[in-house]
Amino acid sequence: MSALLGCIADDTTGATDLANNLVRSGMRTVQTIGVPDGALDDRADAIVVALKSRTIPAADAVARSLEALRWLRSQGAEQIYFKYCSTFDSTPAGNIGPVTDALLDALDSEFTIACPAFPVNQRTVFKGHLFVGDLLLSDSGMKDHPLTPMTDASLVRVLQAQTRRRVGLVAYDVVARGPQAITERFAALRAEGVQVAIVDAISDDDLMRIGPALAGMPLVTAGSGIAIGLPQNWSGRLGDAAGADRLPEARGLRAVVSGSCSVATNGQVARFLASGRPAFAVDPLAIAAGRDIAGEALAALVPHLGTGPVLAYATAEPDRVKAVQQQLGSEHAGALVEATLARIADGLVRAGVRQLVVAGGETSGAVVQALGVRQMTIGRQIDPGVPWTAARSPAAGGDMLHLALKSGNFGRPGFFTDAFAGLG
Ligand code: ADP
Repeated sequence: MSALLGCIADDTTGATDLANNLVRSGMRTVQTIGVPDGALDDRADAIVVALKSRTIPAADAVARSLEALRWLRSQGAEQIYFKYCSTFDSTPAGNIGPVTDALLDALDSEFTIACPAFPVNQRTVFKGHLFVGDLLLSDSGMKDHPLTPMTDASLVRVLQAQTRRRVGLVAYDVVARGPQAITERFAALRAEGVQVAIVDAISDDDLMRIGPALAGMPLVTAGSGIAIGLPQNWSGRLGDAAGADRLPEARGLRAVVSGSCSVATNGQVARFLASGRPAFAVDPLAIAAGRDIAGEALAALVPHLGTGPVLAYATAEPDRVKAVQQQLGSEHAGALVEATLARIADGLVRAGVRQLVVAGGETSGAVVQALGVRQMTIGRQIDPGVPWTAARSPAAGGDMLHLALKSGNFGRPGFFTDAFAGLG
């Protein structure tokens, strides 16, 4: 059976966020790391291809997105979903506009929407303006983002600067009247020559009203919020809506590898250490001095795997991170730590770990790469935005590996031990 919805996400953790929303709405979903060479290992109603195309040059983002599109269509995808950040992260050069243009051209389509709203995460769009909590986007922390500073909250203006197509607005009064009114407004905008419509949404009810108006639209562009209103369009055609989050039974040993230094992760590491379970602190300066820290960590942790989860962590408070960065340079320090944690994760899996929690977005990327993971079937949500996934990895031999990739500030304080409870 072929996939119904094919998604192209402009970064990895954003891809998981979208996949998580689709699964929660009843679509069985597989996330791939980059564009796969062949077919999927597992059946899926939706496929999310994770790219790293948010801040690369626009021409490269277009090329990779078109490659993803070709593969998704070869898998049968009836509708394409271009997923970007709920803060519409982009510059006047792109990449949201250029990728949207290229996908519309390739699909021979003349109309799409753009809607980054994700109300449960405090991202709302009203009169075409994006709010982050109570603040306009341009007054939020996003105005100082190092790569994509967002200094204008008017999405019509922001997108119009990036696309050769005309941008219009479906304002809140129309959205509130429901799918029929939204569909009529789409037709009116098209008649005026508008090809991309920013759509207002301030609640999940709005997203559910917008969903039916998107049925049959070849391309949808959005944050992950719009996904909750789409699966209803395929009701009756979904493989197993009630079991969309079912994963193979989890077996094997348990471990946590943490390279995130965010506030939430520091709390989670502290909670794990307080539990008295075995843990190994990775010291970046010792790695830089040439010590085999991955080997030391494995020697310290592997003997304890039989008794319950173990932790390897580079996580540190901001002053310690700064001190290390001053000595090594922040990029070099990050790369050393990522490579070491990835080797530790690989060694733990080779020693029998089959349930692995990884903390940190970049760290997750490095670990997934080291484990040779190319596809992940998305399972039940552990905490908002963080699902368990099941994947194949050469390091795990023929076994299934359960992975939970937790970016920065996600997860409750007890995440590093509680996450395993739900796997049975
Ligand atoms: P988050 O999701 O919290 O941003 P990431 O894994 O994306 O976490 O980023 C954390 C970065 O910090 C990684 O590059 C990691 O290697 C690096 N890092 C982790 N611990 C330390 C440390 N003690 N000193 C310096 N850098 C560190």
